[in-house]
Amino acid sequence: MEKLNNHYQLYINGEWQSGSKSQIMHSENPHNNKPWASFDCASKEDIDDAVGYAKNALASRAWGSLNATERGKLLFKLADLIEKNADKIGKIETKDSGKLLAETVTQTKYVSDYYRYFAGLADKIEGSTLPIDKKDMHVYTTHYPIGVVAAVVPWNAQMFLTATKLAPALAAGCSVIIKASEMAPCAMFELSKLIHEAGFPKGVVSIVTGDAENCSAPLTSHPDIDRIAFTGGTDTAKKIIQNSSNNFAATNLELGGKSPMIIFDDADLESAANGIIAGNFGASGQSCVAGSRVIVDKKILKKIIDLISQKSESIIVGDPENSNSNLGPLCTKKQIQKIEKTLKKSIQQGGKIIFGGNKVRGEGNYFEPTLIHCPNNQIETIKIEMFGPVISIIEFENEEEAINIANSSKYGLGSGIFTKNLAKAHRVSRQIQAGICWINTYRAISPIAPFGGFNQSGYAREAGKQSILDYTRTKTTWINISDDPMTDPFVMR
Ligand code: NAD
Repeated sequence: MEKLNNHYQLYINGEWQSGSKSQIMHSENPHNNKPWASFDCASKEDIDDAVGYAKNALASRAWGSLNATERGKLLFKLADLIEKNADKIGKIETKDSGKLLAETVTQTKYVSDYYRYFAGLADKIEGSTLPIDKKDMHVYTTHYPIGVVAAVVPWNAQMFLTATKLAPALAAGCSVIIKASEMAPCAMFELSKLIHEAGFPKGVVSIVTGDAENCSAPLTSHPDIDRIAFTGGTDTAKKIIQNSSNNFAATNLELGGKSPMIIFDDADLESAANGIIAGNFGASGQSCVAGSRVIVDKKILKKIIDLISQKSESIIVGDPENSNSNLGPLCTKKQIQKIEKTLKKSIQQGGKIIFGGNKVRGEGNYFEPTLIHCPNNQIETIKIEMFGPVISIIEFENEEEAINIANSSKYGLGSGIFTKNLAKAHRVSRQIQAGICWINTYRAISPIAPFGGFNQSGYAREAGKQSILDYTRTKTTWINISDDPMTDPFVMR
């Protein structure tokens, strides 16, 4: 492919460069299906270089010997630069992925707080002195940077999903190679300019992209990678785990979901309907925590359907750069095809479309906001992650059945409960198999709150103060504090 006017290069060892195999890809604007930018792709040789430089950086005075407070200062600087450039980055992310501009700009501004949170934590990674059960021993633990991190991110919220990896990794003193999604990598290359400007030493952060075979697989299987932080699909995660058998890299997996939202008959129905809309049509449904299985008390099913239908009538589907639009396009044509196929099968199985169900005519990857009633739990749309604006709704007779339906998925990422009964909210929350439970709210996130899933939604947690320890290794040091020599090992006491 040829270079376009908007062209992005790989960022390796503090320099922007072409890929060694001169492979170029285009990013298509989901609004009109026209290529709007081109970018260089990394080859295995480029990955080898980036990992080599990252390893050197760890041993360098500039990075390896920098104290934790100084690392924190660099991260604070990066946070300010991200906040200052949020409009520019948001615009690029919108062109790349089709997400609403209002969403990408707001998210980018908020992402700067993730960098600030981990900047503050950098010099609070403390070891401990152990009350050891051995005489004359002083024992303590210290945490060291784990090493070179491969951060592999999907296209749907790259600034956010990069921050949850890059910020704790840098705060802990690691070096990082970010593998941006080849579907929409341009905002990440814009980020490389800010990382450079903030003054991180050469090789500490490299940003690459490319396809699975030439870029992601060589990176995640590279023998010098010490940790893999991955967000993406469950099937890709299986390959990542296989790749890690080459390097024994500890791995974080943040994967897909099919999150349940349970609406009890005593809920504030207006609030529940808003939660359902926000949880499913936000980011056009391209969210790992989309609450796409809406499980409603039979007594209020009709009321909820009427409310969602009413609210959805006023949704403006259109150009994500236009501030009046409520629902932008999907990132790729492939997603539209997948949604169409799944809806077709679901209708054959007895699913009933209440509204929507079609691609919007004309150019762009637009899909109508859609509600489908599922008479049972085996309908395709209620099982599969749709990654589009499609709500599957199903009714329950009692609390136990609601919980059973909620837990009948291989995933376990988000969940929602709408009820005014506090006891019921806590009781049900306890029984739901999910890493996050939102009660009378949905899709709220924070750098302070751990984020991650159960079951096939992955393992480990991003955000929250414990997540920084994923980027460290613990060393235990034993010191004999007696003046006596070690005793004869063959004499038992
Ligand atoms: P994907 O799994 O196709 O790709 C994710 C990343 O992995 C990309 O950078 C891709 O290039 C790379 N990759 C692909 N094949 C690989 C291989 N064989 N070896 C190594 N790397 C490989 O996912 P996607 O379509 O970009 O994103 C959508 C998925 O991400 C959805 O399932 C969604 O639920 C999930 N997601 C999860 C979270 C979370 O935090 N749990 C957040 C956002 C998205």
